[in-house]
Amino acid sequence: MKKKEIYLDNAATTPVDSVVLKKMQPYFNEKYGNSSSIHKAGDLARNGMEKARQQIATFLNCLSEEIYFTSGATESDNWLIYGVIDKFWEEGGKKKPNIIISSIEHKAIIEPAKYLEKNNLAEISILDVNKDGLVDIEDVAKAIKKNTILVSIMYANSEIGVIQPIKQIGQLIKEINIKRENKIVFHTDAVQAINYLNCNVEYLNVDALSLSGHKIYGPKGIGVLYLKNGTSITSLIRGGGHERGLRSGTENIPGIVGLGEAINLVTKKQKDNVSIKKLRNKLITGIMKDIPNVQLNGSLEYRLPNNIHFSFTGIEGEGLLIELSEQNIYVSTGSACASHSLKSSHVLLAIGLSDEESHASVRFTLGRQTSSNDIDYVLKILVKAVNRLRKISGK
Ligand code: PLP
Repeated sequence: MKKKEIYLDNAATTPVDSVVLKKMQPYFNEKYGNSSSIHKAGDLARNGMEKARQQIATFLNCLSEEIYFTSGATESDNWLIYGVIDKFWEEGGKKKPNIIISSIEHKAIIEPAKYLEKNNLAEISILDVNKDGLVDIEDVAKAIKKNTILVSIMYANSEIGVIQPIKQIGQLIKEINIKRENKIVFHTDAVQAINYLNCNVEYLNVDALSLSGHKIYGPKGIGVLYLKNGTSITSLIRGGGHERGLRSGTENIPGIVGLGEAINLVTKKQKDNVSIKKLRNKLITGIMKDIPNVQLNGSLEYRLPNNIHFSFTGIEGEGLLIELSEQNIYVSTGSACASHSLKSSHVLLAIGLSDEESHASVRFTLGRQTSSNDIDYVLKILVKAVNRLRKISGK
């Protein structure tokens, strides 16, 4: 019999929920019309898309016309950053604009910001975080300058799961904006937050928000940029004028329908988060009790209920990942994207970890499918694997 797989890498991606898959299926070969067509087949596709747009708008507490479908959160993040800055220049901006981001943003924010800086189109201010991984609101207030036109701070971190005070930062920016002519756009990358946190955009005081289907038990290759009415940005992808002229390209209807259903399920399954958190705490306590010389990275208090991130002194995270994988337990050594390189994660360096501590770290992210037996089994195998690797390395 095939050995059970224990997937603890839900921050990298999640399995598509069977309810979501079922809703998507007809849109591949029954309701396959192009949503721009005006015949009945087009209507069917368009209706599916608009229903999903409304489901997402309901979840975010915004208007459906404020929802723009993209190919994923990388596109949403890139589009927002490039779009705000491009609009500024297009409207005759004179002095180079300033963008504020945090040092632990996802690369989908950091790289476009750096690109703009390299090409002399914007200057970036990067806010440090404290050793728990948290942005200080006072630092945001201090960093805002006359030429600041965009602040982008992620809601929850993909690696260490820490949750930023988005509502309070949003409130601060709202108050500052009252007295300013050049309004600051406040954006949050909420990709990791959607499953667990309040993402009501009114509550959060945000003008823009990114999310992704595959992190919430929906399909890959579909995402959303929420853009509050009145926040204007230029297009990133130009063509036939889809998505109210702002994001061209025939819409990914099965993906959109799946994303709508996945968001619907997030609301329905809120109570699962209580048991996910209990299981997370069980694994944290077990690791601390059974394995000496470990360190939990990032705040425990302000943390996603499914995230665990430990450094295990004297071992290589990759080595441990491979040992666990041999036993069909899947974890990660950083964010999935950071795993492409052997460089220390910028997030871990930002919270003060050394290269060695950073390389000795492993992330476990639980999901709806995680059971208490899984945690018992993982702990048993983990203790053995860490002991073995420490013996080999002599540390
Ligand atoms: N932002 C965050 C916080 C993420 O965790 C990810 C995925 O790793 C992304 C953006 C990119 O999302 P996508 O895979 O939909 O492009």
